[in-house]
Parts: sequence; C-alpha cells; structure tokens
Amino acid sequence: MNALLPAVAEELLKEVKKAFHETSKISDELLLALKFVFGSSALHALDLVDQHSVTRINSPSGRMVFQVHGSSGKLYTCYASCHYCSCPAFVFSVLKRNDSLLCKHVLAIYLSEALGACQERSVSDKQMSHILLAKEEE
Ligand SMILES: [Zn+2]
Repeated sequence: MNALLPAVAEELLKEVKKAFHETSKISDELLLALKFVFGSSALHALDLVDQHSVTRINSPSGRMVFQVHGSSGKLYTCYASCHYCSCPAFVFSVLKRNDSLLCKHVLAIYLSEALGACQERSVSDKQMSHILLAKEEE
C-alpha cells in the first residue's frame, strides 16, 4: 500500500482490510494492535472513518488527493502517496518530534480504504489546482 510505512503498519492495515471484508467488523484484537502501532491516533482515526469524513478526489489528468473533515470541522488536504497531511499535529508529532507514524487524518485515509468507507468525488483539473494551491497558501 505504501512503501514509506513500516512493514508492521502495512501488514496490520492489510489484516484489518481482510478481517473487515470477511466479518464486516474489526476484532478487539485488531483494535488493540492498531492502538499499539499507531498510538492514540488509531481511535480518533476510526471515529473519522465512522463519520465518513474521508473523501478521495480525482481529476481527469489522474491527480488524486484526499480531504479529511477534522473533528474541529476543518478540512485537511492529505497526500496518501507520501503520507503527508496539512494539520498541525502532523507537523508537530510526526515531523518534529517523530513520535507518531501518522496523524489521525492520514491513518483515517488508510482505514477508510481498508474498510471501503471512502467517499469519492471527481473534480475538473481546474478545481484540482484550486485545491492544491489553497493548501500551499496555508
Ligand atoms: Zn492530519
């Protein structure tokens, strides 16, 4: 799924996907594993997935970004391919302190994909450049 994620995280997400596909739920065991690997972000991310906060946005030229509605109502633009998010937690705890693998938004993207809970939206290339440029201005 993502070469930048540690193998253990990738394996776990695969296991979540498989288990959910087979049983339509995530076992307590997998929940514990998610908490162990991703820390407190795991539960927040699952909340975001529950609320269908993740949208995958595609444009005709093949660009793709994700937008995640944060719990505060703010919209974050995320790039799953390099697991980057525009939220403050990403900058502080992932980039600066290096004590988290991912913020809850990027994790919510992976979980939404694993659980098939991702919303889809197609936009024009022009709209896509607005989305990307708006991010850079922050
Ligand atoms: Zn984030």
